[in-house]
Amino acid sequence: MNFLDPKLAAYADSHTSEEDPVLKKNNRETHAKVLLPRMLSGHLQGQVLKMMSHMIRPMQVLEIGTYTGYSAICLSAGLQAGGLLHTIDINEELSEMVNRYIAESGLTDKIKLYSGNALDIIPTINEQFDIVFIDADKVNYPNYYNLVFDKVRKGGYILVDNVLWSGRVIEDYEKMDKDTKIMHNFNQMIQNDTRVENVLFPIRDGLMVARKIAE
Ligand code: SAH
Ligand code: CA
Repeated sequence: MNFLDPKLAAYADSHTSEEDPVLKKNNRETHAKVLLPRMLSGHLQGQVLKMMSHMIRPMQVLEIGTYTGYSAICLSAGLQAGGLLHTIDINEELSEMVNRYIAESGLTDKIKLYSGNALDIIPTINEQFDIVFIDADKVNYPNYYNLVFDKVRKGGYILVDNVLWSGRVIEDYEKMDKDTKIMHNFNQMIQNDTRVENVLFPIRDGLMVARKIAE
């Protein structure tokens, strides 16, 4: 999942502000107790999300795919006073841990966790978003994108994780497995969407950043 030479990746890590102690603890607990810990954003990508949040200064953020709360905590860093990050996860077993870390980070008033299927929950949140972070089940990426598009303000951002799919998106199309095709088709859809300006950042597993320039 890392496309950089491991030594360069380590160098980049060691010249990136250190992980906040609560995030470090969350990272460790996730690796010790939770299934599929490699899904956690981690140090470098976490700091990228935090930096973007500070640059955008959002009022309303939507995250699809909370997992153990790591990226939610990072993305809430730049929220304006009175702002809120809404985060959705279908796995109710994670709620206790997520809420515990939200509390430990002092973010109880800034992060709201929803348990359930994002496809059902998104239409019930009536806000205009400055940032949406799509990071749940990959099959539904196009559905999430279409569902949130009208809820993103013009000039707002849609961030999408894992778009390089461990590098498999450059395989011959006929040889791709189903999930890789879904991811590649999604990237093509964004690339061809004239309503956004987009950059595919080749960090970690690939982070697509799309800025909405038209309704
Ligand atoms: N954003 C996290 C990682 C998310 S992992 C981070 O960067 O640290 C993906 C998450 O999506 C998992 O926790 C999974 O339970 C959740 N998910 C999968 N399908 C979902 C759905 N239909 N609705 C909401 N969440 C879903
Ligand atoms: Ca991810």
